[in-house]
Amino acid sequence: MVYDSLVWSSLHGLVVGDKSAQRSGKVPGVGLVHAPFALLPVPFPESHWTQACELAPIFSELVDRVSLDGKFLQDSLSRTKKADSFMSRLLDIHSKMLEINKKEEIRLGLHRSDYMLDEQTKLLLQIELNTISSSFPGLSCLVNELQRSLLNQHGEDLGLDPKRIPSNSAVSHFVEAFAKAWNEYNNPRAVVMFVVQAEERNMYDQHWLSAILNERYPFCSQQRLNFLNFITHITLKLFGKHWQKLMQKENFYRMEHFFCMGGKTIAVVYFRAGYAPNDYPSESEWRARLLMEQSSAIKCPSISYHLAGTKKIQQELAKPNVLERFLDNKEDIAKLRECFAGLWSLDDSDIVEKAIEKPELFVMKPQREGGGNNIYGVDVRETLQRLQKEGTDGNAAYILMQRIFPTVFPTFLMRDGICHKDHAISELGIYGAYLRNKDKVIMNDQCGFLMRTKISSSDEGGVAAGFAVLDSIYLT
Ligand code: ADP
Ligand code: MG
Repeated sequence: MVYDSLVWSSLHGLVVGDKSAQRSGKVPGVGLVHAPFALLPVPFPESHWTQACELAPIFSELVDRVSLDGKFLQDSLSRTKKADSFMSRLLDIHSKMLEINKKEEIRLGLHRSDYMLDEQTKLLLQIELNTISSSFPGLSCLVNELQRSLLNQHGEDLGLDPKRIPSNSAVSHFVEAFAKAWNEYNNPRAVVMFVVQAEERNMYDQHWLSAILNERYPFCSQQRLNFLNFITHITLKLFGKHWQKLMQKENFYRMEHFFCMGGKTIAVVYFRAGYAPNDYPSESEWRARLLMEQSSAIKCPSISYHLAGTKKIQQELAKPNVLERFLDNKEDIAKLRECFAGLWSLDDSDIVEKAIEKPELFVMKPQREGGGNNIYGVDVRETLQRLQKEGTDGNAAYILMQRIFPTVFPTFLMRDGICHKDHAISELGIYGAYLRNKDKVIMNDQCGFLMRTKISSSDEGGVAAGFAVLDSIYLT
């Protein structure tokens, strides 16, 4: 099975750039290695699976409603703004949009809500909601197919039925969402732009989206750029010698109204970058992000969707009576609340004392995405005590969260062509696609899933960050 799975990954594009190959993050086709994956799917109760799927459209609706309340976002993040310079820049862009009264009529969200199943309480609890750059829609579908193919071959010997692996529609749904958004933009010559990091070893996950979009919706053309390419192009177009001529061209109006590149209007900006401080090494990248936000392109996500997905907002939404501000349906509210773990601001001195006493029961989180940023165990105690001593606004950069303890199970993890047997825990992510034009909701679907498995002794969970492997599920 180990050998077969490695062959399958290579033949089917379940690959990432290899860390040890220097150009693997820049040049496609160079230095590929199979993505880390688990050999067999994780047993997962069907009832919790259904519960997680049902939550996806409710969370998407919630993000949309929250995004419309600029004051709520600014107020909730006002103290964080003082303590975190990255958040401060994002909030500045958001403030500018509020000042010019920018309205996003067409709104596209491609989210992923992540959960762990708490062993003791048997509760499905949300880890976080990703509203920007939700990764692995492409590779998660492939791992799903790989594990099904292994069970087709060896299932009988293992006593496992391949039909118990649910199918994964993440890629299909994501590209459908792009095509539908493009359609709403209503300009046959406009393109979908992928904004990516200059170096990206997870590029094949993104290329899967591009390739399937191309195959199924060939009329929707695409561009792939990083922030720096983008700003160079825009500067050339606006200030280069051809700009007068270009200005006369159809669809090339003021930047605020149309977002043009190479003479083409951009219908959709899909961010697979821009979520971390490293994505903005200079002012140029911030200028690029602002220009994109000011433009009429459909941003996936807009700055307000981005902010609505921050950990601080997650914590604010978990406070009593806050969901009621945004949603009307009581059943939906109850369903969301049921999956909220304990979340606290560091202003809560009782909880801070408790966390200092028993740090192993908490996770401390700054406002960052992409893995590797959270604080665990004795470091929670040390950081809290240091912040107490400093007594400044520093504590507003973090939230505290109840630590969730999922069931530990034995598994086979494949990394670098080697199979490791270990004890592991898993985190389930459910993708959601949301598209709206004014009052019309065009799409609000649960659309596929990502299972990630990591050895139980590891605190963090990122696959790209090297802590976890891609996995799928086996319904029990
Ligand atoms: P990021 O935005 O960096 O992905 P997350 O909130 O998803 O931040 O945390 C990263 C990882 O840390 C998760 O994938 C999970 O493995 C672990 N983690 C986060 N919150 C908790 C928690 N409350 N209990 C247990 N593990 C957690
Ligand atoms: Mg995460």
